[in-house]
Amino acid sequence: MTINYVCKHCRTELGSLQSQVLDLEQIDWQLLSDKEKQQLMAYHQDQTITFQVICEYCQQLLEQNPQYHELDYFIQ
Ligand SMILES: [Zn+2]
Repeated sequence: MTINYVCKHCRTELGSLQSQVLDLEQIDWQLLSDKEKQQLMAYHQDQTITFQVICEYCQQLLEQNPQYHELDYFIQ
């Protein structure tokens, strides 16, 4: 399968990898609730999986502007 990582804020593609196994430790998967998992991971019919993560740029913005955590799409 192909796993694509996409920033959930700015939609930047952070990379993709071909994998037989899902390496979930990279994104602190075990810390998420079931609801969050459903929101963050999307299966596609063509055997790809999209993970919504946060890129370095947005992470920095969030750290500098904690109030943005309330908004899903603060970058236009
Ligand atoms: Zn981003």
